[in-house]
Parts: sequence; C-alpha cells; structure tokens
Amino acid sequence: MNRRDWIGLCSAWMLAGRKKISAQTTGAGGAQSSPDLPLREYVPKSMLQVHETHVARARFPLIDFHTHITGVRGNSREPVLRFGIEPEKCLAVMNRKNIKTMVDLTGGYGSALREAIQKLPEAHPGRFIVFTEPAWPFASDPDYAKRQADLIQDAHKAGAKGIKVLKTLGLFLRETSNHKLVRLDDPRFDPMWETAGALKMPIAIHTSDPLAFFLPIDRYNERWEELHAHPDWSFYGKDFPSNKELQEERLTVMKRHPRTQFVCLHVAEAEDLGFVSQCLDQHPNMNVDIAARIGELGRQPRAARKFFDKYQDRVVFGTDASGGTATPQQTFGDAMYEIYYRFLETEDEYFDYAPAPVPPQGRWRISGIGLPETILRKVYQGNASRLLGLSA
Ligand SMILES: [Zn+2]
Repeated sequence: MNRRDWIGLCSAWMLAGRKKISAQTTGAGGAQSSPDLPLREYVPKSMLQVHETHVARARFPLIDFHTHITGVRGNSREPVLRFGIEPEKCLAVMNRKNIKTMVDLTGGYGSALREAIQKLPEAHPGRFIVFTEPAWPFASDPDYAKRQADLIQDAHKAGAKGIKVLKTLGLFLRETSNHKLVRLDDPRFDPMWETAGALKMPIAIHTSDPLAFFLPIDRYNERWEELHAHPDWSFYGKDFPSNKELQEERLTVMKRHPRTQFVCLHVAEAEDLGFVSQCLDQHPNMNVDIAARIGELGRQPRAARKFFDKYQDRVVFGTDASGGTATPQQTFGDAMYEIYYRFLETEDEYFDYAPAPVPPQGRWRISGIGLPETILRKVYQGNASRLLGLSA
C-alpha cells in the first residue's frame, strides 16, 4: 500500500467511526456527542484532585465595603428607593458569615437616601452604612456644580458616610444639549470632590470595566459568554472613550483633589496589577476594593499575593453583593462569601470564583492567596474602618 492509499484508508476509517459515533446519541451513558459541541453545552468537570477547604465564616469580623442593598429606580430628579435585598435577609447572612457591617453604596440622594438611612443604619445601628450618589439628572443644569456640593452636605447631615460614583460617569452620562459624554475630570464636579474631602467622606468610584468589554465580541474575546449574556456591557466602538482615557481622567481627579480619599472599585483595573501599583505609588489618596474581581486576582495568585503584601493598608474587602441571580459572582448569600473567604484565607488551588456551573466572567478557575492574619485583619476591617472614620 502506498502512502496515498494508506491516507485514503485512514480517512475512510475515521469517517466510518465518526458516523458510528454520531449515530450514538448522548445518553446518560455518556457516548460522545457531535464534534461541533455548542459552547453553552460544554460543562467540563475537572478531574484534578485538590484540597478543598470549606470556610463557612470569615476568620475575623469584616466590613463588606461594596454592596447594593438598595438602588434607585429610573433617572428622575426625585429618585424612588427600592430594596434589592431585604434588611432581614442581610442580617441573617451577616450573622452566619461573620459580617459586622455592610456598606450599601447605592443609596441615591434626597428622600430616597433618607429612607435608606432610616431603614438600614438607623434601624440596625452598627450593621449598615449608606453612601449617597451624585444627582446625575441635574448634571447639565447651569447651577449643577454648587447644587451637587450642597446635596453632598445635606447627605452628610442625613447620615451618609461616603459617595458612590457609578461607571455612569465616563460611559453613560451625557449632556442634555448635544448628547456628548461628560468627562470624569470635568470641572463641574470639582466642588463635589472637594466637599467630600472636607467632610471626610470617601469616594467609592467605579470607572471603566474589564478590558475585554472594549474589544469586539468575537472568538478571541475571553469574556465572550459574559458579553453574550449582557450585550449592553460592551463598550466597543461607538463614541466610548478607551479604558486608558477613562483611567487617565480618574487619575487627574485624584491628583487634583489630594485631600479626598478615593476607593477605586474592582481593584481599579484588576487585569493589570502593574499599572494599578504605579497608580497607587503616585496617588497616596488612592485605595482599591476587590469586589467582583477575585476571578482576576485569583488567576494570578502569586502577583495578587505580592500586591496585597505591598498595599496591605490600601485594599478593602468588598463583593458587589446584589439581589437577583443574573450575575452569580455578585449574588448575595452564603455561597458567594465562602468563595471570597477561601480565596483570601486559604492556599487552595483551582476552584470556582463564583457559585455557578460555568464560570460567569470567563472560563478559568482561581487559587487562594492565604493571607497572613495581620493583612487579613486590615483587608477585612481595619482599612475600611479608617476610611469610614469608624473606631476600630
Ligand atoms: Zn457595584
């Protein structure tokens, strides 16, 4: 048999084999399915035998600096508060998981904020803290700069402990006149940043998003499934600024307002810890939280561990906990917290960063960084206490 005949015969065998395999449908017995398996049906089970530590409670009482117990509905000038998670449910999970305090970042402003404060910290002293948010619907008004600073003063008097700036600023907020995106470092916000500094209210600021959200949703995109589940999270094309531009604008703001403390949410840019380190080195008023980014930190556990060592006084614990189940990495409940604790407290390897059958942010798994107690105490509570002006 010459080479060509042999190859021909092999191809025929392979075809016959393939037909046979195709004829056997996938049953519980587990014969092979079509070679063109749709990605959504691919749920491989790891065969790796690894140590599994179940961390039911945090080793020390903690502050979850980044939660969304409430939110405000619509974009009206008089926001209406809604509860995404009921306070009673919060308390039950908090008691089980050793969570001393939850910071509800999205308390809105005006009457919505007062309602959130009344139903959370006033009803349960010590267990909840509420942040206010900028009044975006007024942002194009000529008197906005002063009005916003006054609203921050009012919010502080009402009991708000900080300000949450959603990624709205930079990616969604537009001028009412010409529909152009408003820049993060626009001077109209200067009185707000300054007032926050004067009142010692930290700014929890979410800017930009994962780098993959700025790329085409194609087969090279590592968050393809996530972007297909949430197509509105894509900032590819159109008139969106780049991630780099957004980061630069935020750095300008931090530099311009050195007395104001900023907590850059989601590790500022978790995929590039080198860049985040540079930013932290150059901006002493910058801090970060780890909310919804243990997927990123845990897939670079050695770099992450060094990062926590070096910036142990500037990293705060947060989760982005929310009601609903559309984003498993944020779904408030025991399972989510146990994964955070396992990541921070153990050196377990190759585990899921979210309680979901398929990793929701990208198809990879994480390893723990086993923080020593001194750092763990700071990350769990000390750093947040200092930023929030709480007695330790
Ligand atoms: Zn959030």
